[in-house]
Amino acid sequence: MAKRIIDPGKFAYFEGNYVPIEQANVSILTHSFNYGTALFEGIRGYYRQDDGQILIFRLQEHVERLVRNFNILCMDIPETREDIARICVELVKRSGFKEGVYIRPIAYKSERSLGPKLHDVESSFCCWIMKLGDYVDISAGLDCCVTSWRRLPDNAIPSRAKTVGSYINSSLASSEAKQNGFDEAIFLREDGTVSEGSAMNLFMVIDGKLVTSPPTADILVGITRNTVMELASKELGLTVVERPIARTELYVCDELFFTGTGAQVAPVRSVDRRNVGNGEPGAVSKKLQDLYFRVVQGAVPKYAHWCTPVY
Ligand code: PMP
Repeated sequence: MAKRIIDPGKFAYFEGNYVPIEQANVSILTHSFNYGTALFEGIRGYYRQDDGQILIFRLQEHVERLVRNFNILCMDIPETREDIARICVELVKRSGFKEGVYIRPIAYKSERSLGPKLHDVESSFCCWIMKLGDYVDISAGLDCCVTSWRRLPDNAIPSRAKTVGSYINSSLASSEAKQNGFDEAIFLREDGTVSEGSAMNLFMVIDGKLVTSPPTADILVGITRNTVMELASKELGLTVVERPIARTELYVCDELFFTGTGAQVAPVRSVDRRNVGNGEPGAVSKKLQDLYFRVVQGAVPKYAHWCTPVY
């Protein structure tokens, strides 16, 4: 996939105001720039052609995850949950975009002070948005490898916090995979069990059940993961199991797919040069993908409350 150059909206939210994107600049003296002390969210807005509406998917859940994670980095910001949600909607509205968007709220240690620590360092909130189509190929199936990099343990740098610094781990794995000719990386944990992809959760279909690593497996507990688990059990009647996954289960399972705000529902067709199933996206993966895309478009009334209209 080609480089994803950011095509931003005209405005960002920065230091308490909506400002032209060119003015939303952080100083090199900022704590988070020097120590990686920031955390963020990634949220998608889906464009609906019929009525020109943009629907932000599971906005409340993303805001909730962000705000809960403040506690991990000892953050306190003036904006409330309601403010953050309103800012996300407002930035999309001000962009006037008529296509898919990606929203990036960031809470960061904004003080100009020296020394890596979390307590007693002032934090701020900012947010920018961009246009976004598909992040990975979601039709052909991805060729993946198990990366030689281990997933960060929760008691070193917590993946669940979605901290800026932890994406060094993701970047190491992603570059290794891509430079070796694969589309994506799969992380193992220090104990050798499977964790997740570089920026996506992983599901396996085996013996008609959906299996995914538990929240204690050094994963970011994904909102798409949660969505797919709910759709799989309630709409497709599948049993969903959260349990540790061994590496070689990836070689013998029937289907594999990633989930994520960026990745959406992305089938995996091979791991370490071994075909998954028959080497093509599997039936369950395709069914879930299809259902997911109907849900994010607001086309399934039961789940319409997951979609926040912008215009
Ligand atoms: N794991 C990691 C490391 C990620 O960066 C992401 C993307 N946010 C995910 C999983 C998927 O999470 P979500 O479905 O909430 O986007």
